[in-house]
Amino acid sequence: NLRVLLRARPEGKVGHEHFEVREEALPSPRPGEALLRNHYLSLDPYMRGRMSARKSYAAPVGIGEVMVGQTVAEVVEDPTGTFRPGDTVLGGYGWQRFCCVPVAGLRKLNPDSAPLTTALGVLGMPGTTAWVGVTEMSPPKPGETYVVTAASGAVGGVAGQIAKRMGARVVGIAGGPEKCAFVTDELGFDACVDHKAPDFPDLLAKACPDGIDGYFENVGGAVQKAAWPLMNEFGRMAFCGSIAEYEDAEPQPGPNLGQINRKKLTLRGFIVSDHPRAFAEWRRIGSRWVKDGSLKYREDVVKGLENAPEAFMGLLAGRNFGKLIIDLG
Ligand code: NDP
Repeated sequence: NLRVLLRARPEGKVGHEHFEVREEALPSPRPGEALLRNHYLSLDPYMRGRMSARKSYAAPVGIGEVMVGQTVAEVVEDPTGTFRPGDTVLGGYGWQRFCCVPVAGLRKLNPDSAPLTTALGVLGMPGTTAWVGVTEMSPPKPGETYVVTAASGAVGGVAGQIAKRMGARVVGIAGGPEKCAFVTDELGFDACVDHKAPDFPDLLAKACPDGIDGYFENVGGAVQKAAWPLMNEFGRMAFCGSIAEYEDAEPQPGPNLGQINRKKLTLRGFIVSDHPRAFAEWRRIGSRWVKDGSLKYREDVVKGLENAPEAFMGLLAGRNFGKLIIDLG
């Protein structure tokens, strides 16, 4: 049973030395448990937080424990008789090929309703994050300018399309011309600005001639600094994540908060798991849009569990292009 364990806690950048890829014996189910085989593993930025012992909204992974992560799995054996061998389930079963878990927490997936990987991306946690972040935390009015960072990614790509459906003029921010072209040509954003361009703050200002009314923050750092001065009065900022800062050894100094007062801004931080009802709501709405082809998404699927550490480092450095998923075969 191939497993990826946390070997050491990174202080700054994550490296191979922080993981241990190990072959172990196949587990056998205890009373109340089923044996599962993971087929798809979701890699997400929050995992960087779980590698650290810093105080956070979720407990860290212990040293020597298997890395956490959501997976789509197949039931191999269920002595409780609740599931049949071959059933597909969704849950947090971690970076490992096989695992034994209590059947009580398993959610069955219907493989005919949507491609299985969508349960980890566009119709799963990242898609729900976009739904909550736009509609509840920073709802745009028709005609307003709405800016989305990490716009080609799992959360950002969906967030911009939702804001567009609500009538906003949507401007994405992404790294490099290829991702920017995807954001406008495939996802249908009105514009996209490359944060790697040397004159990025000017380009962002040009792309937002009427200022910014809604801002969906996935990145933080230099990208956020360029956006702050462009915020309009009564603007709304949804603070979803700050991936550019996850590998900083020390927290970055904050922006000049006087703008919140002068511009009467509303800032909303949120964690999607605090919105449990939103998951089913988004599945219902989002799956309709995925089915009729009006909601576009891109997945970046990497084969082999042994490649998960390298792929995860790539996610933190912007080398993924779309929702990052490991195909365990
Ligand atoms: P993505 O699929 O968007 O992948 C991460 C992307 O972040 C990279 O591809 C890269 O895009 C961008 N990025 C990485 N480093 C930098 C940097 N230094 N500067 C600018 N951009 C960078 O990931 P997700 O969609 O899964 O997650 C996006 C954000 O949402 C993260 O901050 C995550 O923590 C947060 N999140 C928050 C949740 C919540 O409940 N609040 C739930 C889920 C996610 P590019 O090449 O375009 O720069």
